[in-house]
Amino acid sequence: MLWKCGICGFVHEGAEAPEKCPKCGFPKENYAQLAEEDAKKIYDSDRTNDIHMKIVNLSMQIATLARQGIALSLDPTCVGVFEKAKDEAWTINQRSKAEIATHLANGKW
Ligand SMILES: [Zn+2]
Repeated sequence: MLWKCGICGFVHEGAEAPEKCPKCGFPKENYAQLAEEDAKKIYDSDRTNDIHMKIVNLSMQIATLARQGIALSLDPTCVGVFEKAKDEAWTINQRSKAEIATHLANGKW
């Protein structure tokens, strides 16, 4: 069963709501059990959100490496390749972040 804190939105998994919210510290009276449909959305999107977060993280690593390559400035062609990689990493990063934001707005987290 999933329980949601009405104060901060923290979702707890268990037979009962927690005595005290692990995020905001308010007591269990502020928790409500999520309907089966809402709980299913959260379970279904758990893995995809995790994949998006990993993609965001990898894109940041690509951008960091590309900046290092740009700084080394071996030759204009090489710098150009790193510039493109940096820009593409930004696109990948933002696309996955925007998708996560859409999931959150739809109760899929
Ligand atoms: Zn809370």
